[in-house]
Amino acid sequence: MNYFNLFSNIMVTKGITRVLVSDLQRNTSELYPLELHELIEELKTTSVEEVLNHYDQESKVIVQDYLDFLLEKEFGFITQNGWDRNFPPLSYEYQDYNILSNIFVDLDDISILQSLKQSIENLEIRHLVIYCRRTLLLEELMQIDRMFSHAPLEGIEIFSQFHEAVDQHFIDTLNRNTARVYSLVFYSCGKAPFKDNDSLRFTVNFTDQALTISSCGKVNLDYFSTNLPKVLEAVNHNSCLHKKIGIDIHGHIKNCPAMPESYGNIKNTTLEEALKHQDFKKYWNLTKDYIEGCKDCEFRYICTDCRAFTERNHTERNGLDTSKPLKCGYDPYTGTWEDWSTHPMKQNAIAHYGLLHKTKVS
Ligand code: SF4
Ligand code: SF4
Repeated sequence: MNYFNLFSNIMVTKGITRVLVSDLQRNTSELYPLELHELIEELKTTSVEEVLNHYDQESKVIVQDYLDFLLEKEFGFITQNGWDRNFPPLSYEYQDYNILSNIFVDLDDISILQSLKQSIENLEIRHLVIYCRRTLLLEELMQIDRMFSHAPLEGIEIFSQFHEAVDQHFIDTLNRNTARVYSLVFYSCGKAPFKDNDSLRFTVNFTDQALTISSCGKVNLDYFSTNLPKVLEAVNHNSCLHKKIGIDIHGHIKNCPAMPESYGNIKNTTLEEALKHQDFKKYWNLTKDYIEGCKDCEFRYICTDCRAFTERNHTERNGLDTSKPLKCGYDPYTGTWEDWSTHPMKQNAIAHYGLLHKTKVS
C-alpha cells in the first residue's frame, strides 16, 4: 500500500469556495479548488489505493491527476506500508518574547521621537513606522536613524511627503549614513525622480497618492505575506495589532494612531504605563477566525487585519468589534474581488470614518 505524507511546512487553509495552500518554507501561497482539500484530508487517514477505490473509473483519473500534482508541487511524498512518523507536524505556536514589537507614530515634529526613545528601548521595540505629515529633510532622516543607534530597534520604515530635494544623491547619502531605515515611501510625488535600484540597502517607493493615516488598512493581494513568523502570528493573534502601539498626531497613545481609544498622552504618560491599562491589549488575540467574513476566507492567515476601519456591523459579547475590515473588497463567499469603496453595504461605515470626500476612495 502507498501512503501520501503532506510535508509539515505545507499549510492548507480552507475557505468557503477555495483552498489556499501555503508553502511556509518557500514563502508562497496558491489557490486551488476545494476538492484538493478534501483529497488531502482523505489521504491523511486512508492509503492511496483505498482512496482511489472510492471512485468510479472516470473520477479515479481526476484523483490520480490531483495526486500527481501534489507530488509534482512537492507538497508531499509517498511512503509504503504506512505514513512516515519521523517528521512531526510543524508547531503553529507563536513565541515573541518582546513586550512590544511595533510602534507606529504619526508626527510632524521629529523631536517627539526623542521623548519616546527611552520607552522604545525599555520595551525593546523592534520596528518603528513613522508617518510624517510634511517633508522630511535629509538631515532629519539621518537624525532619526542616529537617534536609535544604541537601541535594540531593528528597522525603521518612513512615510514622508515628497520634495524636490529627493534625488539620487539624496538617497545615496542616506544609504551611506543610515543603518536601520529599511523602507522609505515618498507620497504626493508627481513623478518619481529615479527608479528604486538593488544597490540600496533599503527600498524606496514614490507614489502620487496624498497618503494620510486614514490611507492605512487596505487589503489587497499585493500585501499578503506567506512569511512564517507573520503566518504564525496571524494564526494565534491579531495580525495587525498584536504587540503594536501607536501615537497619534496629538501624542495620544493608542493601539494604532487611527483608532479612537486613547490610553494616555505622551506628555504625561509613558508607553509602559499605557500598556498596563486593562483594555490596551483587548484586540491582541482577536484572530481572523473570529472576524465576520474573514473566518470563512482562505486568505485569513496571510492577510493583515485592520481594526481601525471596519464595516462596523458586528460586535462580540465583550464589546470587541468583529466586523470585516472596511477596506477589503474580497467576498470569500463568491471568491471575487470588487472595489470596496463603492460597495453599497459599506457606505455607512465609509461615511462614519469621514472617507466620503472622494467619490472613489483609493
Ligand atoms: S489597525 Fe488598520 S489603520 Fe491601524 S495600523 Fe492596523 S491596518 Fe493600519
Ligand atoms: S475577507 Fe478580506 S480582510 Fe478578511 S481575510 Fe479575506 S481578504 Fe483578508
